[in-house]
Order: sequence, then C-alpha cells, then structure tokens
Amino acid sequence: MITIEGQTNVTQLRSGANAAQNLGKELGKFVVTTMEIPWKHTHRKLGGNPEVVIMVETMEESWLDRMISKLPDCDTVVGVGGGQAIDAAKYISWKKGVRLVSIPTILSVDAFVTPAIGIRRNHEVTYVGESTPDPLVIDFEILRTAPPELNIAGIGDLISVHTGTHDWEYAQKRGRSEYTFSSADIAAARNILAKLEPLLSDICENNDKGLMAIVEGYMCINTICLPAGHYRVEEGSEHYLFYELEERLQRPFVHGYIVGLGIYLMSQLQNNRFEWIRELMDRVGLTYHPGDMGITRDDLCSSLLNLKSYVHKKPQLWYTVIDDSEITREWAVEAMTGLKF
Ligand SMILES: [Zn+2]
Repeated sequence: MITIEGQTNVTQLRSGANAAQNLGKELGKFVVTTMEIPWKHTHRKLGGNPEVVIMVETMEESWLDRMISKLPDCDTVVGVGGGQAIDAAKYISWKKGVRLVSIPTILSVDAFVTPAIGIRRNHEVTYVGESTPDPLVIDFEILRTAPPELNIAGIGDLISVHTGTHDWEYAQKRGRSEYTFSSADIAAARNILAKLEPLLSDICENNDKGLMAIVEGYMCINTICLPAGHYRVEEGSEHYLFYELEERLQRPFVHGYIVGLGIYLMSQLQNNRFEWIRELMDRVGLTYHPGDMGITRDDLCSSLLNLKSYVHKKPQLWYTVIDDSEITREWAVEAMTGLKF
C-alpha cells in the first residue's frame, strides 16, 4: 500500500494481482458500466450480482441520461474498462449521488484518477461535475489482459512533464504565464519523471511494479494540479501539436502515442534535452512514430508549418515555445529526421 501526500482524487486505493477478486460480493446493490471485452475479462472475478450491466455505446449526454432514467435502485456504480466506461460510471455516480468504484482494465487514459467527468453534449466534449473513486481498484492481472503497448501509452501524460514544465517556465520568463507561477510545482512534476526513470523497464514489461508506477505517477500529478486548478505542468506545446493534427486529420489517436510524437518534436523546438527524452521514450517502449498512427510525412510537415497560426487562433491555449517560434520547412524536415513513416 502506497501513501501519497496530498490531494490525489482517490479515496481508497486497492491494488494487487487479484485486487478485484470477489469485490462484487462486498458491495450492496450495484450497477456496472462497461464494454464487451473488459467485461469478459472481469465479470467472473468481480463476482456478486449487478442489478444491471450497462454496455456503454456512446458518451452522449442524452444517451447517458436515458440510461440513468431506467436505472434500478442502487447504492454503488462500478466502472469497468477504459476511459469511456469509467467516465460513464463517474457521470452516474455524480448524477445519482452514489458511491463510485473504478476498475480500469487499461492504463492508456487517466480517467480513473481525474475528478472531471468528460461527456459529449451534441458531439462536443464537455466537462460536467466531479467524482472520486472509493476504492480505485488496480488489479494487475486484469490490466495485463490489455495490449501491453496501450498500458505503456499511459506514460505519455507523465513524460509530457518534460515539455510542459519547460513551456510554463518559458511563459513565465516572458511575463506571459496565465497562472501564478510555482517553481515548487515545476520541481515536484520533474521529480515524478525522475522517479519513473529507474522503472522504465518494469513499465515496458507491464509487470506489477511498472503498472503501479504509472498509477502512482498520475496520482502524484493530481497532488500538484488539483490544488493549482490547472494542468500546466503536464500540458503544453506537445499537446497543441496533437490538437492541430486531430483537427487536420479528423480522427482520434491513442493519447499517449500522439503526445509522445509531440514531445519528440517540441523538445527540439525548445532545445530541451531532446536526445535524453527520445532515448527515455524508446527505453520504455512508447509508440510515437507517425507510421504507427497512420500519419504521413506531408501531413506532419503541414501540421508543423501551421502550428503557430493554429495556436494564435485559439486564445484559450496557454503561452508556449510555439508562440515565438519560426518553424520553417527546413526546421521541420530536420526535426522529423529519425521518425518512421
Ligand atoms: Zn494529455
């Protein structure tokens, strides 16, 4: 059992090779939100008799509200799965005021530790309300039923501390920080990355220690970002390149993969220990090459050339290295050297 000082957004953490075993028998009347594959790997282990099992089809508010209107009487909602199944459970917990139990079956997105509930209202992502798991169940065997590279992808939003903290410092130096600057927060965030470094091979292997390191990393990020009220230490230019690509190509990406690509390119734009962070991403086995995401050389080059005007059209985006950059075709070609298409 680990102890993390501060606001983690996890009331209780239960972890182990079989942490979810027979948990259903301890719960009173409960409902489950899940999807086909995660439920297949979990339901026998969980035990108990859920009042209803909701297969999440969409995160549209109207659909979720329709499900809630049909819910039987219950005192707990158990989310079993990835981002959507967990967010659906968070939404029901918040709307109905019932206990939330989260059992992530994959670590590729951090929905299971973030308080904000992401849904879609008329197809647009909207954040409504907050909720906290009690307990958060980290069952290593269940997590290992997911493709290992997708669990590794979970480290993307932790490695992004490398470029995110640099961008915040950069903005501060130019008097453009949107928030009260905190060098303590910068140091704490970099410390998370430093603590992960000796565990890269464990993460790569998806062993218990490695999987737990990702979960702990997320919880530590929360201790910095929840009191601060923003995620600036882990979100900056590397995410903005991803937003540009998403808008350009109109399709979703595995979050950690595309953030990894952003770190690869933006750490160069920042002159920020590129070789070190590239080697770190290779050692942990993070997928970040454009070819693995179906991104062509032309698309990526166009995205880089458009990046500065893209961020200038979005006033809600924070000040980063992109704002003063001069990204030329020569720079882009040079920065993409080493990427596989
Ligand atoms: Zn992210």
